[in-house]
Amino acid sequence: MSENEQKSKDFIREIIDHDLETGKHDHIHTRFPPEPNGYLHIGHAKSICLNFGIAEEYDGLCNLRFDDTNPSKEEMEYVDSIKEDIHWLGFDWDDRLYFASDYFQQMYDYALELVKKGKAYVDDSSAEEISAYRGTLTHPGKESPYRNRSVEENLNLIQRMKEGEFKDGEKVLRAKIDMSHPNLNMRDPIMYRILHASHHHTGDKWCIYPSYDWAHGLEDSIEGITHSLCTLEFENHRPLYDWFIDQLDDVYHPQQIEFARLNLSYTIMSKRMLKQLIDEGYVDGWDDPRLPTIKGLRRRGFSPASIRHFCKEIGIAKVNSLIDYAFLEHCVRQDLNKTAPRFMGVLRPLKVVIDNYPEDQVEYMEAVNNPEDESAGTRKIPFSKTLYIERTDFMENPSKKFYRLSLGREVRLRYGYFIRCTDVVKDGDEIVEIHCTYDPETKGGYAPDGRRVKATMHFVSADHAVDAEVRLYNRLFTVEDPAGVKNKKFTDFINSDSKETISHCKIEPNITSLKPYDTFQFERNGYFVIDPDTTSDHLMINRSVALRGKWKNFRHQQKK
Ligand code: ATP
Ligand code: MG
Repeated sequence: MSENEQKSKDFIREIIDHDLETGKHDHIHTRFPPEPNGYLHIGHAKSICLNFGIAEEYDGLCNLRFDDTNPSKEEMEYVDSIKEDIHWLGFDWDDRLYFASDYFQQMYDYALELVKKGKAYVDDSSAEEISAYRGTLTHPGKESPYRNRSVEENLNLIQRMKEGEFKDGEKVLRAKIDMSHPNLNMRDPIMYRILHASHHHTGDKWCIYPSYDWAHGLEDSIEGITHSLCTLEFENHRPLYDWFIDQLDDVYHPQQIEFARLNLSYTIMSKRMLKQLIDEGYVDGWDDPRLPTIKGLRRRGFSPASIRHFCKEIGIAKVNSLIDYAFLEHCVRQDLNKTAPRFMGVLRPLKVVIDNYPEDQVEYMEAVNNPEDESAGTRKIPFSKTLYIERTDFMENPSKKFYRLSLGREVRLRYGYFIRCTDVVKDGDEIVEIHCTYDPETKGGYAPDGRRVKATMHFVSADHAVDAEVRLYNRLFTVEDPAGVKNKKFTDFINSDSKETISHCKIEPNITSLKPYDTFQFERNGYFVIDPDTTSDHLMINRSVALRGKWKNFRHQQKK
């Protein structure tokens, strides 16, 4: 039984099962409807995995539809990047790429139908007046003085609005529902606004634009979407969407189902706030590895499989919750552990001279590429007289629990030899290099006499090492829910230590076989990825996530 089948089905899949069993539907059609006004983030990934995932599981279809009803904030750049991100996550819409703006004429015709039925009217009130008349949750609203215009007058005015006769904000088209309805969304919501603005898809063809509430349900209806899956904040818009569809003759009525949006700790997910972080220079752009954007996660080395796995594991619920960022990292680790090739990389190098090793000798040691995947094979790593080890792997005056290298002590170099430290060279207080001897009998890291050492360390041969800049990342915010703290701005909680750049790290030469976005493990140091800004003479590497319980795991691998 697959992991998927073992888990009980979520409430949305249960509804779909029921709809298929009862014959309400004989096929399933979903859609992912992004507004092209920003880059996708991991919250969108949840929705993408849900919509495209359901289509796959039920042998149905999933459309990609750009909800581009607002001309002022939307740009083609975002359209392209959203398409790229969905493909990167591993999903495809085939030939079903749609734009809500393609339905502007159809939506307008539907609006005329409502006007003719006396269900919509043109209102000359200002935005302020409309808002003042709306009432509150405890007080009913007031009817607009323009509410009882005749059908003929309304028809005449909406056509002239469309022809461009009026200025921005001079008139709106409103649904005629109920100004004392307990649900504020039902108090004569706006259907059309005048906006003399160019649209990225329709150019200057339109100067009236549909409101989100008017457009959204119609888009799903026009495309024959069987299950319109959206987040909880649209729950109290559903009666309005239903009302619109019910007023129109012969239109398809999709079923809207709401689910909890993904909230992730120590980060923010709103496009507006993400944009602010970039515009105000807190991060280096939309693909900064600290951001929860798909582009950022990709640059951080999080694989599509790990993001899909994460989305599956967190599941679908009816109640909002906050998911621990550490769980996302756990999913990344699980995936990369299986797939990432291993390399040796020394982040903070300390020079080691093996005094009894022949001056010009180089030995190529066989190293396992991935202990979790035999088919990944082996590679050769050079061993020579001068090496680098991690500074933190040496202590001149070792504390009680420090088992790695110190004066007089013997340790194993992974895939190398046993070495023993004989001398420390200092410049003032700073250790410049250390001297060791090696035991030629211990090639490969095993002693024929069975003697044991307490530590196994990684190393890189100095003459063969490749220099790299390595970036280590930390949480972007210091509190779990930076956007949810009363009387504070989310930017008050930026973590000033969210990025650490280390120059002149020393990496084994095989690293040059990798290309940007390739992920790998530096033994004992974590999972990493080649940064796309890497050039032929400047290698840049980002850490995706540290290894947890790294030392224990490493010893375990060594024994195998
Ligand atoms: P934001 O609040 O970040 O601006 P949005 O909801 O306005 O996001 P859209 O482009 O409208 O962004 O989103 C496209 C789809 O992705 C919608 O169906 C929306 O419900 C879903 N979505 C957005 N954010 C999340 C989230 N955090 N969790 C789950 N689904 C989400
Ligand atoms: Mg939205």
